[in-house]
Amino acid sequence: MDTTTQDRQAGKEAAPAGKGGTTSMVDTMVCKYDGIVTADWDGLFAERIDGMKGSAIRELLKVTEMPDVISFAGGLPAPEVFPVREFKEACNFVLEEIGARALQYGPTEGYPPLKDYLVDKMKRYGVPVEPGNILLTNGSQQALDLVGKLFIHQGDLVLTESPTYVGALQAFNAYQPNYVTIPMDENGMRVDMLDNLLARHKVKFIYVLPNFQNPSGVTLSLERRFQLAEVAAEHGIIIVEDDPYGELRFEGENLTSLIVIHKENVLYLGTFSKTLAPGIRLGWVVAPQKVIQKMVLAKQGTDLHTGTFVQMVAYDICQRGILREHVKLIRDVYRERRDVMLRAMAKHFPVGVTWTHPEGGLFLWVTLPEHVDADELLKVAIEEKVAFVPGANFFPEGGGHNTMRLNFSNARPELIDEGIKRLGRALMREFGCEAPGPEACRAE
Ligand code: PMP
Repeated sequence: MDTTTQDRQAGKEAAPAGKGGTTSMVDTMVCKYDGIVTADWDGLFAERIDGMKGSAIRELLKVTEMPDVISFAGGLPAPEVFPVREFKEACNFVLEEIGARALQYGPTEGYPPLKDYLVDKMKRYGVPVEPGNILLTNGSQQALDLVGKLFIHQGDLVLTESPTYVGALQAFNAYQPNYVTIPMDENGMRVDMLDNLLARHKVKFIYVLPNFQNPSGVTLSLERRFQLAEVAAEHGIIIVEDDPYGELRFEGENLTSLIVIHKENVLYLGTFSKTLAPGIRLGWVVAPQKVIQKMVLAKQGTDLHTGTFVQMVAYDICQRGILREHVKLIRDVYRERRDVMLRAMAKHFPVGVTWTHPEGGLFLWVTLPEHVDADELLKVAIEEKVAFVPGANFFPEGGGHNTMRLNFSNARPELIDEGIKRLGRALMREFGCEAPGPEACRAE
């Protein structure tokens, strides 16, 4: 028992600092309130907490949950197509056929049959891996945290695209890195700038989302993938390839993954969140065995292992071919929603606004005229009962005030059309235009 606890239990007061008593740890760690010694929580937090910011998006989601607001703010899949019946059948199967073992602790690395399934899946992508190259995680969000835990010393430089996935910044920030960023264009990260940047900065790893990036919806071109893998290898720098959306391609050819190009230098993150259901919190990491071994240790300290039951259920769904069929279905559903959104934007958005045309995924990215502030626009949009995420949230080094992210997977097509109409109205109000319509309205 420490002194603080002993004193507290004996009803003793800590000596007031600087008033006859000596200033001790106890003085600085507690404050008195009506005879009760209350911990000074703020003074106790570890320094790393300073760098942790709440996600503006999660805050925003609270506002947008109001029933009459049409929200393009979240990154949520379409709930009406979740395979609920199939999950129910799989749960029953696992409980009846596997029984108690499904409710027992399991190996940190993951449920072996599910790992074998993922080995085959990765082989189909062209990545020859062994089970020892795979770790099951609680979503790829946990994998991002484990990457931070494993690789980031305080002050290390992490290189990201700009914009990038805000949840990765949230995960990494706990380990107190600094960021250096590379802008994107319609072909993804400007890899032509990489060599110069790596020569000037000692970067720990490159975090990249090659397919239908969150937030921009942009895909890294094939040529740039090879350049990126090569330049990184020349500098001996690892790449963290985050790929939640790769399977959700609506059109065009699948492009080679970075891990296929340079297996030894790439740590690949996959997830069932967008292809099956995010609520099951199931993702996986592919990496060299020695990295997986360290990551296993890091994960043990966090949660021992990913849920046995959920892995068994997911495995049953995968091996019965349900996942494959489900992915086909959601590709069709999301393609239609993307098309509805693109058509509605062409109809309702005023002149001077541009947007990306993603070939898959969940998001598209809108650029407003330079002088328009998306945070201000959001206030008007909420009055019009529509929501989006202002783009500045996705820029680790600042910028992007005139951009916004729109999600097209979550709302039904008729709501997408109505929501974009409302957003068009908000834009025209922000641009200071009255009717007659978007063609006549341009930002001054
Ligand atoms: N990476 C990216 C790019 C994402 O968009 C998301 C979810 N929005 C994640 C990782 C985390 O996904 P999950 O933990 O659900 O697998």
